[in-house]
Amino acid sequence: MKAHDGMYIGGEWRAAAGTDTIAVVDPADEQVIAHVPAGIAEDVDAAVFAAHEAFPAWAATPPAERAARIAALRDVLVARKDEIAETVTAELGAPLQFSQMVHAGVPILVAGSYAELAASYAFEEKVGNSTVYAEPVGVVGAITPWNYPLHQIVAKVAPALAAGCTVVLKPAEDTPLTAQLFAEAVHEAGIPAGVFNLVTGLGTVAGQALAAHPGVDLVSFTGSTAVGKQIGATAGAAVKRVALELGGKSANVILPSADLAKAVGVGIANVMGNSGQTCSAWTRMLVHTSQYDEAVALAAEAAAKYGDRIGPLVNAKQHARVRGYIEKGVAEGARLVAGGPEAPREQGYFVSPTVFADVTPEMTIAQEEIFGPVVSIIRYEDEDEALRIANGTVYGLAGAVWAADDAEAVAFARRMDTGQVDINGGRFNPLAPFGGYKQSGVGRELGAHGLSEYLQTKSLQF
Ligand code: NAP
Ligand code: MG
Repeated sequence: MKAHDGMYIGGEWRAAAGTDTIAVVDPADEQVIAHVPAGIAEDVDAAVFAAHEAFPAWAATPPAERAARIAALRDVLVARKDEIAETVTAELGAPLQFSQMVHAGVPILVAGSYAELAASYAFEEKVGNSTVYAEPVGVVGAITPWNYPLHQIVAKVAPALAAGCTVVLKPAEDTPLTAQLFAEAVHEAGIPAGVFNLVTGLGTVAGQALAAHPGVDLVSFTGSTAVGKQIGATAGAAVKRVALELGGKSANVILPSADLAKAVGVGIANVMGNSGQTCSAWTRMLVHTSQYDEAVALAAEAAAKYGDRIGPLVNAKQHARVRGYIEKGVAEGARLVAGGPEAPREQGYFVSPTVFADVTPEMTIAQEEIFGPVVSIIRYEDEDEALRIANGTVYGLAGAVWAADDAEAVAFARRMDTGQVDINGGRFNPLAPFGGYKQSGVGRELGAHGLSEYLQTKSLQF
């Protein structure tokens, strides 16, 4: 697609208030592919104003009609899915097939789910002598990262629109073209002017202005824990609703009764899929001491097979950061069994699929979110130790448990301090609430739980 040189505000592409631009880089070859405007506080002001103006009418639009508009948006995403996949591949670097299946495919599912939920949700209920109305919170400030650029936009905008809220989006500086394409889709779907607005720009400028704007009633943020803490503090000071979807360091717990080859194979694929740039990735593999050597050999083989099929990291900063973590793993005494810190290609921000064995739970690579294609295999002696290790980070976003039968895996999963657990390779469910325990965040996205984040209740007594 061709980049827009303006902001999508009030239903039209308007000239940016400032003159600075952001260069969009293809991380596979480091070439500049486009420029987009770098928004400033005035752009955010204009967008919040448009969202505020559009709010009363959209909030009063019957849910069935909001549902129809979201269904139309889903249909545009379907019609333009190839263009979406190509755009995500160009600015994020994900292999095209992964972009088609996941980066274009999942947002279609999620948009579809909210078209249905908007139509079926109980926005009104009777509780004793009261009628309780679920009403939209107001103007939403959405701040999204680059790792699943369209999914993270749709996971906020679709439920917000379903609830009757209006939105201002500040997408990641690395992936603004996907966001512009989404704005085009919103327009094509006939969503009324001002209901959705886009301001591209830097987090420290446009993002900060949006999070702090007095006209924003709810801030929904996905990204790093460091920025999330800041946004939570800003929102707290203004007594503003906030949803934070932050980092993770999830455990893939392989119990001794599990199908080891399957658990290891799926576990490696789970991390390598988006070059490790997945907040819910199972970056710690926990293996019983009796199966440890076999698991290490299987993991090394699976990672090596990935080889060239892995995409680059998003930018030079992440490239340096991830390679720094790999060097740190070596320095702290972990054993490299696949990959390593050397760049596998001269051009592009590539990192080889990397597996560390002999990782102990307190090592940096077992504690901090690396956000790259790096798996740490940790040994445990018994289930209690496995649980202590699994729960032994500040995070709690996702995880996996493998065992001979589901009941055994469920018993373990119920003791994990984490928001989602896949049992014996359970499939992604776009209706299941997604979000973190502990420092992985506040609030939930997806499904009915995700919708309720954008609602507040009013009780009338009779
Ligand atoms: P980030 O800075 O937290 O970026 C997330 C979003 O917040 C982007 O739109 C960003 O804008 C914006 N932002 C940055 N500073 C802000 C501020 N002071 N106020 C308001 N908005 C602000 O994350 P990152 O720098 O891209 O990645 C760093 C690390 O974060 C990664 O290595 C990874 O560990 C983690 N991460 C986690 C997730 C997740 O899904 N949980 C996603 C991405 C990254 P800019 O694009 O201009 O920075
Ligand atoms: Mg940043």
